[in-house]
Amino acid sequence: MRQTAEFWLEALQGLGIEKPVRIMNVCGGHERSISMAGLRSAIPDNIELVPGPGCPVCICPEEDVFEAIQLALNEDIILVAFGDMLRVPVNAPKSEPRSLEQARAAGADIRPIASPTEAVRIACDNADRKIVFFAAGFETTTAPVAAMLAEGAPANLLVLLSGRLTWPAVSMLLESEAPGFDALIAPGHVSTVMGPEEWEFVVDRHDIPAAVAGFRPDTLLAAMYSVLRQLRDKRHFLDNCYPEVVRPGGNTAAQRQLDEVMQVDDANWRGVGVIPDSGYVLRERYAAHDARKQFPSYADDSRKRVGEMPPGCDCAKVVLGKIYPNQCRLYGVACTPRKPIGPCMVSDEGACRIWWASGYRENEWEGRRQSVG
Ligand code: SF4
Repeated sequence: MRQTAEFWLEALQGLGIEKPVRIMNVCGGHERSISMAGLRSAIPDNIELVPGPGCPVCICPEEDVFEAIQLALNEDIILVAFGDMLRVPVNAPKSEPRSLEQARAAGADIRPIASPTEAVRIACDNADRKIVFFAAGFETTTAPVAAMLAEGAPANLLVLLSGRLTWPAVSMLLESEAPGFDALIAPGHVSTVMGPEEWEFVVDRHDIPAAVAGFRPDTLLAAMYSVLRQLRDKRHFLDNCYPEVVRPGGNTAAQRQLDEVMQVDDANWRGVGVIPDSGYVLRERYAAHDARKQFPSYADDSRKRVGEMPPGCDCAKVVLGKIYPNQCRLYGVACTPRKPIGPCMVSDEGACRIWWASGYRENEWEGRRQSVG
């Protein structure tokens, strides 16, 4: 029988853990549930919940967004992208469009979509034009893009791929001198596709407790209880607290399609840099659907630099769990969902936007407490 959130809260309190513990989550959906349900204030003060690299829009490299903007502005194409991407800013001169939304206002044919099925429909409805699908996302979003191509996409549908894998970012943190967390809540939906085994390295190589969780507060609290109990008992393992959805081995059909259509390569993460084996690229046999192969001149090497968040934006530190969103000096002062400066305030999966939407209004930059609400 599934236990309630109240049950897990009580169990967690009963563990009697007194030393400070930092638990990282790597899923924007987890962060939203934690913040919206007020779990931070419900659990003991010594347990910190740290949002980590769980927002694909936030880490989508600036050069990929710029490439999409330039393609849409200069070619007779229809560019389609998931809605969140449209407002992501790049560091273009003020006289030029700085986001897909601004490029659309300047006359580019850019359309928000919610799924690859919509991209296929737009391609079928516009057979005389090329459709470029700017596909940025983690494994759960990239797998349906692979399925779309594997099952036969219309000839006029191209993909500008910016797919990323989540585990290499966690691995990079754990290999660093200061990972910044003592336990991990692993993403349930990624595990549904790739299998929970993908997170075994956290325990096997780094001796850090880990638990897979879903989006509801009860499964998140169950995962918190699991990793805290593992710490208390000094017996670390990978727990699956979302067994009704996450099965051993994951979705093998989706994995086969990912492997047929894409290969894994080193990839740039915005503000973070290149992370080994963290990106998807289309295989050569899908070159006819690869926007980078069909429009090669738009991949501008000069934009492939590291650390290119908008000036003053600490999104990279937020994404890596080095600071909380409200420890950015611009949080709520110059940067709000209405006027976002960095991608973490744009995306529904961005920690800054989630915190703002959840009612966090205190700016705590460098210890300064400033009410911005
Ligand atoms: S508050 Fe805005 S400027 Fe600061 S890290 Fe978040 S998105 Fe970037």
